[in-house]
Amino acid sequence: MQRLKGIGVSPGVVAGRAVLLIQRAHVLRYQIAPARLDHELRRLDESRGRSREQLVDIQTRLAQRRPELSQLFDAQLLMLDDPMLLPRAAAIVREQRVNAEWAVQQVFHEFSAVFEEVADPYLRERKGDVADLVGRLRMNLRQGVSTPRDLLRELDESSVLIADELTPSIAAQVDWTKVRGFATDAGSRTYHTAILARSLDVPAVVGLHNASELVQAGQLVVIDGTASEVILDPTPEELARAAHHADDHRPAATVDAERRRPAATADGVPIRLDANIEFPDDLAAARYAGAEGIGLYRSEFLVTSGVEDIRDEDRQYEIYRGMIEGMAPGSVTVRTFDVDEEQMASRLSQQHPLAAGWEPDEARASRQGLRGLRLSLTRPDLFRIQLRALLRAARHGSLRIMFPFVSSVEQIREARAMVVAATADLVRRGEQVPRVPVGVMIEIPAAAYTADLLAREVDFFTIGTNDLIQYCLAVDRADERVSRLYEPLHPAILRMILMVRRAASRQRIPVSLCGEMASDPALLTLLVGLGLTEFSMTPGAIPVAKQVLAELRSDELRALARQILKLATVDDIERVLLAALGRLTLIKGVI
Ligand code: PEP
Ligand code: MG
Repeated sequence: MQRLKGIGVSPGVVAGRAVLLIQRAHVLRYQIAPARLDHELRRLDESRGRSREQLVDIQTRLAQRRPELSQLFDAQLLMLDDPMLLPRAAAIVREQRVNAEWAVQQVFHEFSAVFEEVADPYLRERKGDVADLVGRLRMNLRQGVSTPRDLLRELDESSVLIADELTPSIAAQVDWTKVRGFATDAGSRTYHTAILARSLDVPAVVGLHNASELVQAGQLVVIDGTASEVILDPTPEELARAAHHADDHRPAATVDAERRRPAATADGVPIRLDANIEFPDDLAAARYAGAEGIGLYRSEFLVTSGVEDIRDEDRQYEIYRGMIEGMAPGSVTVRTFDVDEEQMASRLSQQHPLAAGWEPDEARASRQGLRGLRLSLTRPDLFRIQLRALLRAARHGSLRIMFPFVSSVEQIREARAMVVAATADLVRRGEQVPRVPVGVMIEIPAAAYTADLLAREVDFFTIGTNDLIQYCLAVDRADERVSRLYEPLHPAILRMILMVRRAASRQRIPVSLCGEMASDPALLTLLVGLGLTEFSMTPGAIPVAKQVLAELRSDELRALARQILKLATVDDIERVLLAALGRLTLIKGVI
C-alpha cells in the first residue's frame, strides 16, 4: 500500500481500477483484458494497412503532378516496415497489456530519444517524418473509436481516472456514471475541473505532481477526496471504507430534482440545457448531469454499433420509447441516421431483401458524399421503418424528429413527404399518430445561408457547429494534422450562427445549438450573447455551464458579442472574450 498526498477538491471516497489519461500527448492509457489482446493487435495491424494505402495513394497522386516530391514519402513507407516501429509497438501491447494508441506513443518517445542524439542534421530531420507517420497511425487507430469518451466507454463501471491534467472539455466527455472519481498531477483548489467534480459529486484529488507516473493502468486505487489522498493497492479495510462512502444517503428523487433545476443567467433569462447522447444507456448520464431533455440522440449508433436494429421497426420503437419515457417530462430529439454508405453497407447483410442492389462504391463513400438525410432518401424502405418506429414512440411522451446533413429545401420537402407516408402506414394499421415536430440540423454552410428559406419548412433548427465549422473553413475535423485551423471563433462561424439565429427568430421557430462548441463555458457565454438560449451538449459539460451562466448577465453578454462581431481575427476575439470573462470569479477557474 502507498499513500499519495494531494489536495482534496471534491469530498467522498471511491475505489476502482486505474485508467490513465496523459493529456500532454492526448493519449489514453488503459489496460487490456487478456481476451482483448488479439483485438488490440488487430487494430494495430489494420492501422498499418490503412496508413500504407493512404501513403501509396498520396505518392501516386504526387507522382503525376510533382514527381520530385513523391519520394519524400518513401521514408515513411520504409518506416512502416521498420522492426523498431510497429513490431515494437505490438510487443508493448503484449507485454504491458496496454492499448495500441499508448504503445505507438511509447515507441515514438523511444525514437525521438534516439534522434536527439544524432549529430547529422539530415537524419535529425527524419524525426519529423516519424512524428507525421505516428500521427497518421494514431488517426487510423481512431477509426470507429474517435474520442477519449469512446475509449472510456469500453471500461467497466469500477474505474477511476488518473490524469496528468484534466481539462473541462475532456472531463465533459467522460461518462461519470462509469468513472467513479479522478486524481490529477496538476491543479489547485480553484482548478477548473475541481468545480466540475464538485457539481457532479465525483470524489477528486488534484495537485499530486506525479501520480500519473506512479500509478499503473489497472492498478487498484482508492481516491479519498475528503482526506486529500490517493491510496495505491489499498488494504481490504480501505476498500470497505470506500464501499461504505459510495452510497449517497439522500433520497434519489431529491438528488435528481436538484440536478435537473433549469439553468438561467444572473438576470433570470432561462437557458435550456439538453444532453447529446449516442446510446440509450447514456440516459442515466444525461439525467445525472441535470439535462432538461435530450437535444440530440445520434440514432446512427444503432447502425454503427453493429446492432441488427435498423430494419427492425419494433426493436427501434422499444429503444425510442424507452428513451422518451426515461427522460420524461423532458423532450427527446432523435436525429435520423447520419451515416455514410460504407457504414450503412457494412451493417446490411447482403442476403436481406432490403440490401438488394446495395453495392457501395467504397472509394466514393465519404463524409461529404451520400450521407445523412441524402442517404436515407435513397433508401426509402429503411427510412420509412425508422420514421414509423419514431411516430409510434411519440405516443409515449415528448419527441421531436430531426434530419441531418440537409442542404436544400427540396430535401426537406421530400423528407416531410416520407413522414406523411409513414403516418399513413400507421393509420392503415389502425394506430394513432400524434403530431410530431420535425426539424433540421443546420450544419452545411448552404443551409446556414438559406436559413430564412428553410425556416418556413420546419418546426425547429439545431445548429451543428461540428460540421458547420469543418465545411465552412474546409478543415477535416478528424484529421489532427490540420486541426489547428479548426476554429470555432472564426468570424465566419460567428456570423453564420447569428444569421441562423435571426432567421429562426423571424420565423418564430426554436433554434438550439448542439455542437461541441456549447461544451466550452467561454464559447457558451458568447453564444448566449449572440442570442441563443437553447443548447445541447455532452452531459458532463452541463453542471459547469449552469454555474457559469448563473454568474453572467445576458445584457452584458449581448454587449460583449456586439463588440466581438466587429473584430477581424481569432486572436483578437479570443483576447476580448477571455478578458471580459476573466473578471468573473467562477469562470476564472474554468478557462
Ligand atoms: C454537429 O455536426 O455539430 C453535430 C452535433 O453532429 P455530429 O457531431 O454528430 O456530426
Ligand atoms: Mg454533424
